[in-house]
Amino acid sequence: MSVNQKLTRAQFDEVMVPNYAPSAVIPVRGEGSRVWDQEGKEFVDFAGGIAVNCLGHCHPALVGALKEQGEKIWHLANVMTNEPALALATKLVEATFAEKVYFANSGAEANEAALKLARRYAQDKFGPEKDQIIAFDKAFHGRTFFTVSVGGQAAYSDGFGPKPESITHLPFNDIAALEAEVSDKTCAIMLEPLQGEGGIIDADPEFLHAVRALADKHNALVVFDEVQTGVGRLGELYAYMRTEVTPDILTTAKALGGGFPIAAMLTTTEIASHLKIGTHGSTYGGNPLACAIGNAVLDVVNTPEVLEGVKRREQLLRDGLNQINEKYNVFTEVRGQGLLLGAVLNEQYQGRAKDFLVAGIGEGLMSLVAGPNVIRFTPSLVIPEADIAEGLARFERAVAKVVAG
Ligand SMILES: *Cc1c(COP(=O)(O)O)cnc(C)c1O
Repeated sequence: MSVNQKLTRAQFDEVMVPNYAPSAVIPVRGEGSRVWDQEGKEFVDFAGGIAVNCLGHCHPALVGALKEQGEKIWHLANVMTNEPALALATKLVEATFAEKVYFANSGAEANEAALKLARRYAQDKFGPEKDQIIAFDKAFHGRTFFTVSVGGQAAYSDGFGPKPESITHLPFNDIAALEAEVSDKTCAIMLEPLQGEGGIIDADPEFLHAVRALADKHNALVVFDEVQTGVGRLGELYAYMRTEVTPDILTTAKALGGGFPIAAMLTTTEIASHLKIGTHGSTYGGNPLACAIGNAVLDVVNTPEVLEGVKRREQLLRDGLNQINEKYNVFTEVRGQGLLLGAVLNEQYQGRAKDFLVAGIGEGLMSLVAGPNVIRFTPSLVIPEADIAEGLARFERAVAKVVAG
């Protein structure tokens, strides 16, 4: 096989590790919320990668930032700082509760840093016995061994040998279970303010308040994994802004680079002081190219125009999905918030979310699943309203096909 031949899906099985099962189509170009494959077939994008392309594909502001920085300087070792990183950190500090920023390249890496920081903070301040991390069933925090072990799906962390210890999983939104478990041994409580991969499950406000109060009572840190909910996805810059519950550590990734890899961990000066020189690091973390793009993303997203637009688009998408359901009766509910919505399959279609996704591809629509029973929609935050209408029409045809069998 030569790389000069036409590249095909079949080659995936020959040359790639089989940990993914990609669809038959190979997209080659995107513009806004439309994508084209090798054959020129066009798709409406209700997936945005996986909640990543928050400004659609090839947004001019991001292409501009990429080109401009690409001609200046790409990488510096962290023995030197750089202007785009300083600018982006300043923006994140000004826009959030945080006073200090650590840059990484992926959600898992930002969470790995958060977990290591929480452990180090507790050990420094209270001693080595304070090491328990409380996390929740169905949570998803990434695929490094520490983060996947904190995640709430044993199937993802089993089979790789001994796991990191002192991690406890509890049912999500269950205040009584949390009250019964949390103690002075607890070092951190980690959660997604709205569980994404686990099935689009929102945290109850009372639960979030209980997490904060119990953590305070026991000197534990609250870590919000906002890798999926952050950067405008729910109609606020960060989901914690919906409630009066502020975390001690927040992680952000996916949409932060709009499609370019970048992540960040945000925290306070006091907590950050425990990651002393040499305790943690990353070769690529905070590189100028990624940070230049992150700056451009935040400049566009963190405006009333875009954030309010998310709520308007949410309504259109939610209404459209509910109308489809009135005709075909396939969902029990459409849940989630902002542009992180899940259509939950009813009894008759249990386990078949992937069938709807595949039928969607046939009709020219990209969507996602969140587990076997939820079809997930995470379009661009600036998807044109006409594309929402067209995507819904295509999804309706896909639903009709699945229902017809
Ligand atoms: C996607 C995701 C991660 C992992 O991010 P990667 O960039 O794949 O490492 C972690 N937490 C949440 C909530 C996510 O949605």
